[in-house]
Amino acid sequence: MTGDGGRAATAGDFSGLLARRTSWGRSDAIDRILSAANAPGVLSMAGGIPAPDSFPVARLAEVTDRVLSRSAASALQYAPTAGTAAMREAVARRAGETGAPVGPERAMVTGGSQQGLDLVARTLLDEGDSVALDDPSYLGAVQSFRGAGARLLPLPTDRDGMRVDVLAERLAAGARPKLVYVVPHFHNPTGGVLTTERRRELAALADRYGFLIVEDDPYGDLAFEGERLPSTDVHGDRVVRLLSLSKTLCPGFRVAGLTAPAGLLGELVAAKQSSDLQTNTFGQYVLAELLGDPAFLPAHLARLRTLYGGKARATAALLRERLPWLGFEDPRGGLFFWCSVDDPRVTSDLLYEHALAQGLALVPGAPFCIEQDGSRLLRLSFATLDEEQRREGVSRLATAFDKARAD
Ligand code: PMP
Repeated sequence: MTGDGGRAATAGDFSGLLARRTSWGRSDAIDRILSAANAPGVLSMAGGIPAPDSFPVARLAEVTDRVLSRSAASALQYAPTAGTAAMREAVARRAGETGAPVGPERAMVTGGSQQGLDLVARTLLDEGDSVALDDPSYLGAVQSFRGAGARLLPLPTDRDGMRVDVLAERLAAGARPKLVYVVPHFHNPTGGVLTTERRRELAALADRYGFLIVEDDPYGDLAFEGERLPSTDVHGDRVVRLLSLSKTLCPGFRVAGLTAPAGLLGELVAAKQSSDLQTNTFGQYVLAELLGDPAFLPAHLARLRTLYGGKARATAALLRERLPWLGFEDPRGGLFFWCSVDDPRVTSDLLYEHALAQGLALVPGAPFCIEQDGSRLLRLSFATLDEEQRREGVSRLATAFDKARAD
């Protein structure tokens, strides 16, 4: 114990010194699940990670060489907090290609969209402020909002995305969220796509009540068919768009883009400056060069859609054939199946434990859920397994279910 009011701690125990906010957004559920998934011999349908064979390795090698031979002095140097000029241009271009054109002065570079979420949370949320979001939601966003001390306003969500009509009711009843967080395409974990109608209603509510929409869109490029729907960013003054490149190119560079209303961008840049000064210059040079080739991205994305569409269809067929107790709808894009365990004797936690004992990792639904009961829900990724691993994975899941039912 200590002589100063119990603040300092015994050796190795810092609990008396930690800021209160360190406990607010804390969840080790995903860490635990992902480290189990990485154990030797375990097949993983757990991670929200892209397929390694989706990475444009040859093009990256070529571009990396070019950047080093032509631009080493600047590519290895410090760069502005908002991003290199070429990468800000590339982000602005992506914003236009994905439905809401902006100039580069409204674009910045972040260390992944996860940093974008953190910057938005730190810049806009005071302790006790309210954030409306789908229930279930992406856990990384929940952690950022909770970590800033926000109260969450969970809203029901379905295959057509957030129930914006329920949001309208809550607003009419006096709720005043500062932010409404949406994943507009192929929501993680539900796979829902916010319909054009709901997007329009959401944008109208933002105008009426003065909240900010945070549109987090890492999966919009991965539609198996059809066109991308319009952004909610219709007037350019109420939406922060997070344009991850992790699923579109690769996550390892930790380079993503964000666009924000003119009056907000400077605040986000200031928050980033105190956090990491800037995103790595070299990665920005390489990705800006790659994205600067107008022929590259359309062809690359076409290949990704074919790759993931094929994996999704093959996995769906296998799941239906082997696991009649598993309820799910066919994904229309993205990386996941959001499933229900349609047997009253088996919870997803129990299934998770038995699956792991069989050498298969999945993610039980509860960590994604805020108020909703997630005890019979689970997320399965189809992205990384090849055909043989897929068969083996589904077979292990079948065995796990039989064992869980016999418990
Ligand atoms: N938002 C959502 C909805 C995600 O699923 C993910 C990654 N799984 C992220 C943000 C984080 O993306 P990034 O790698 O760009 O930080």
